[in-house]
This record gives sequence, structure tokens and C-alpha cells, in this order.
Amino acid sequence: MPDASRPNAVPAPGGPDKAAETRSLNFIEQIIEADRAAGKHGGRVHTRFPPEPNGYLHIGHAKSICLNFGLAERYGGKFNLRFDDTNPEKEEQEYVDSIIRDVTWLGGRFDSGPHAGGLYYASDYFEQMYAFAEELIRKGKAYVCALTADEVSKRRGTPQIPATSPFRDRPADESLRLFREMREGKHPDGSLTLRARIDLASPNFNLRDPVMYRVLHEPHQHTGDKWCIYPMYDWAHGLEDSLEGITHSICTLEFEDHRPLYDWFIRAINEGRTDDGSGPWGRKIHHPQQIEFAKFRPTYTVLSKRNLLKMVQQGVVKGWDDPRMPTISGLRRRGYTAEALRRACTEVGTTKVESFIDLTRIENAVRDHLNKAAPRGMAVLRPLKVVLENWPEGQTDELDFVVNPEDPAAGTRKVPFSRVLYIERDDFMENPPKKFFRLAPGVEVRLRWAYFVTCTGVVKDAAGNVTEVRCTVDPATRGGDAPDGRKVKGTIHWVSAAHAVEVEARLYDRLFNAEQPGKRTGNYLDDLNPTSLETVRALIEPALAAAKPGDTFQFERLGYFRADEDSQPGRPVFNRTVTLRDTWAKAAGAD
Ligand code: ATP
Ligand code: MG
Repeated sequence: MPDASRPNAVPAPGGPDKAAETRSLNFIEQIIEADRAAGKHGGRVHTRFPPEPNGYLHIGHAKSICLNFGLAERYGGKFNLRFDDTNPEKEEQEYVDSIIRDVTWLGGRFDSGPHAGGLYYASDYFEQMYAFAEELIRKGKAYVCALTADEVSKRRGTPQIPATSPFRDRPADESLRLFREMREGKHPDGSLTLRARIDLASPNFNLRDPVMYRVLHEPHQHTGDKWCIYPMYDWAHGLEDSLEGITHSICTLEFEDHRPLYDWFIRAINEGRTDDGSGPWGRKIHHPQQIEFAKFRPTYTVLSKRNLLKMVQQGVVKGWDDPRMPTISGLRRRGYTAEALRRACTEVGTTKVESFIDLTRIENAVRDHLNKAAPRGMAVLRPLKVVLENWPEGQTDELDFVVNPEDPAAGTRKVPFSRVLYIERDDFMENPPKKFFRLAPGVEVRLRWAYFVTCTGVVKDAAGNVTEVRCTVDPATRGGDAPDGRKVKGTIHWVSAAHAVEVEARLYDRLFNAEQPGKRTGNYLDDLNPTSLETVRALIEPALAAAKPGDTFQFERLGYFRADEDSQPGRPVFNRTVTLRDTWAKAAGAD
């Protein structure tokens, strides 16, 4: 197979893509350019992608990876991959491994290349975070509270009424003793928490003495049994960013209300610290800047890991990498290329305005890339037999076909032609309506790249179904043009019966048939598309039988198909990535 048949295997290009260079700056780039002009963070740019390893990454994460890595690239900065692994109940090594694979595949270079900042685990900072927490207790900025989670929520107050905790005035030395006991495992799950002493009356509820640590006797996939207290997201996240020297900590809009807390924690640590480290508390820690942007939300798609996990557990799909899943691994298996995903992420832009992204835009990015990268092939999904009455039995013509008209370097391939062929059942009608430009009795069509044929009749079974179409072929039209200049209206694809290989083709469609799954009934599973997968026995031209997992083709007139991991040598299984045109728009009358 030529190299171009493996668009996914081509390494990600280093520099920012062209689209990124010609567009105007997005609001984050404007902030960064202003920061650099002002000399903030010493002009450095250091970003990170901080997934929680509690599921597989999805296309929303792809946006975040491309954004963060793209900024490091654009400004000559660094990019970290960091596992925000502070919640051992839901986290697994399988997820860690899949995330590393997916970030790398997308081109996020955290461990090699000029922008590699490194691979980190939040759990590696637990000891340091613990020390900071003791410091806040000693500074009078945190206390151990014995309210249960239920009691805390009962006492959380209203916008007008402050929250309460009877433990707020606990002296620092007593909190310190209890906090150490929490760490030593002397208190059961849920019995004690460490809370920041901020403002029980704050209109922003995130500041009403948020929990920093909880007791949880649960082994951790990275630290094992070492800890039985775990830090909460808001406490941990800014410290992770600070310790790694992150300059611009980019997250999604729902964290806007958490930014005051992000800043409060770092300021609280820095209180009493100095730039040169003189004084009792030591040197100031780095204060990164949190910036929020709107989530990437495609139509016809469910994204949150919780909902994706539910579909995996309930068997709605065959796993996290089911080609219908919006996960990076599912999209890759389906045939999406990293380049197409990167381009889609750039094209949709980065804003602070929540909106849905038309899934068609993402599909079009895939079509555009595969149109250039994918070799062509012929396959028939629903075969109808055609016999060429005037073609000698046993005679084969070997035709030379262009592998990819968009890529002359891909060369040509041999395609056999013989007396018995298969065409697509849909390409024949016995009593066609007007404007049906395909095969019908008395009509002449072109067989793609081969010959003109004219239908002379049909053979039917007892039930009256057409089982065979009879044609004559004009040998003078070899290559697909008539020497007398006569034209035909239709061109259809075909395979030679004696040479075709029968394979399984999985025709994937959108997993949901509502633009916003769940909007109607509140349950996204009510909007599942019942025909999101149709499996057919397809016939392919012999050259395609050598396809290996990952090889991607355009099956002429049908769409893009990628050989699946379930393929056997010589017996590929093909996943339909996307049809050639947007059939959904057509169905809605928009085509
Ligand atoms: P989910 O709700 O799907 O589980 P999450 O936000 O909990 O997503 P994390 O693993 O915590 O997932 O997030 C890793 C990073 O990816 C975060 O910085 C988060 O803001 C970003 N992210 C998650 N979903 C999207 C999205 N739809 N668009 C852009 N960025 C996203
Ligand atoms: Mg999450």
C-alpha cells in the first residue's frame, strides 16, 4: 500500500497550521500578547492539559489539547500533560494509558520536541500540598471541621443568609493536631474535613469556607496506600499549576466562579512570604493566571465522561473506542485523522460564548483532509449482479486506475474487469423516474474508469425481484470515453465478480438523531439513532484486500472507510468514517 493510505500514521507537523497563522487573534492570544508586552511571567508562556484520569478523552478535550499545545507552539513556550489525579475512586491506570496515547496521537508533544514541558501527576505533589495546608492552618486560614457533607449543605445558607460552622473558631494548634490525625488514618471517611477560612457570607458560594481535604480510605492508582486524605480540586489545581510554573491556566467557563478561590489560595500561601525567601515562611510561590473559555460542544453528541461511561456500561456502544463514540479513540478508530481534528479545533475558534458547533463542520474537516490523503478504491455495499453478454467468458482486462487524483505521487493500481460484475443495487432501477441517471433498461452508463455498458434486460426470481442485470459493453470505450464523442449521463462503480473479495463493512452513522440529545425528554438515551450501525457484506476490489488496520480509503461514490483493528490478514473489516456528502442536510431538504 502506498504511504498515503495511512494518513493517521503520518507524524503531526511541527508548526502551527496555516489557518492558525492567517486568522485574527483569539481573546486568549490577546491576553498573552498583552502579558508578554508587559513582561508578565518574564514573557514566558507555559500551558498544560490537566485531565482527570476518570475516562477516555473526547473531542472536547481535543479542543483543549490543541488550544494549549497550539499556544505553547505559537509563543515558543512549553506544554505539560498533567494528570489531575486527586479523586482515587474514579481513576484507573487504563484511563491514564489511553490519555497518553490520545494526546500524543493528536500531536500534543509533552515529552519530546521544543515545546515539551513534561508529564506530571498531581498526586506527586501531595506531600507539598499537605505542607502548604499545614501552613494555612498555622496562618489561621484553615480549620478542621467535623460537619458531615450533609450538614455542610444544610448549613450553607442562602444569598442573604450566611453559612455556619460551629468549628470555625477552632484554635490553630487543635486543627493542626486533628489534621495530622486525619493523615495518620485515625478518623473515618467523611468524619472530618479541612476547610479554608474565607467568608461564610460571600455571595459566591465557592468562597463559603470551601473544603480543602477530605478523609478517604481508598488506594490510589499512583500513590497506592500512602494517603487516606485527598485534596479537593479547587485547593489542588492552582498549586499544581504553580509548582509547574504554568503561566496561563486555561479551563472552561464553569470555573469562572472558582477563579476567586484559585487566586485566594495562592495569595494565602504567599502572605508573609517574600520574593527573596527571607522571613519565616520562605519564598513566594508562582501565581499563574486562570483564563476561561467556552466548551467545545458539537451537535448530535453527548460529551461528559459520566454519560459516556454510562453508555459503555449499559452496552449502548461496544466500548470507549466504539467508532460511534465522540472519544478521541473512537474517532480515530472510525477513521478521523489527527490533522482533521486539529483543523476542526482551530476553525471553530476560541471564545467566551457558549454555543453549539455544527457536527457537519467537523465532518467536513475530515472530508477535506481525506479527500487529499486517502487513496481511492471501489467497493460495492449491496451487490447486484451484472452480466456483460458480449464479453468473452474467462477474459480479464487489467485496467490502470489512478490511486488518488489529488495526489499524483500515489501512482496507479491494477483493477481487473471481466464478464460478470457487481454494481450497487441502488444504481439500477427497472422502472426509473425521470432524472435517474444510473442504469436502467435501454440506458447506457459508464462503469467508472472502464467501459460504457447498456442494459438489455433483467433476470428475476420467483418473487419478481431482479437478481441479475444483462448488459452489452462497448469495447471501444475502454478507459471511460467514447471515440465518437457520445456522452452518457451516469457513471457508476463496480467490482469484478471473479476477483472481488467479500468483507465486512460497518456503516456508522451519528449515534444520536437529535441535535441536542436529551433536550426533549431529559434523557439523552431517548435520542439514540437506532440505525447508527448497519453491518453489510461488501465486495471490494482485490487491491483493497491488503489493507491493514489504520489504512483509510475513499470508496468511490460511497464515502471514506478505514480498516478496523478487527481486520484479519487479507480480510479487512472496514469502518465507514463519513459519507462523501452531508446526507443529513439532504434529508432535511437543505441540500
Ligand atoms: P467531562 O465533563 O467531559 O468529564 P471534564 O472537564 O471533567 O470533562 P477533565 O478531565 O477534568 O474533564 O478536563 C481536562 C481539561 O479538558 C480541562 O481543562 C477541561 O476544561 C477541558 N475540557 C473538558 N471538556 C471540554 C470541552 N467540551 N471543550 C473544551 N475543553 C474541555
Ligand atoms: Mg471532570
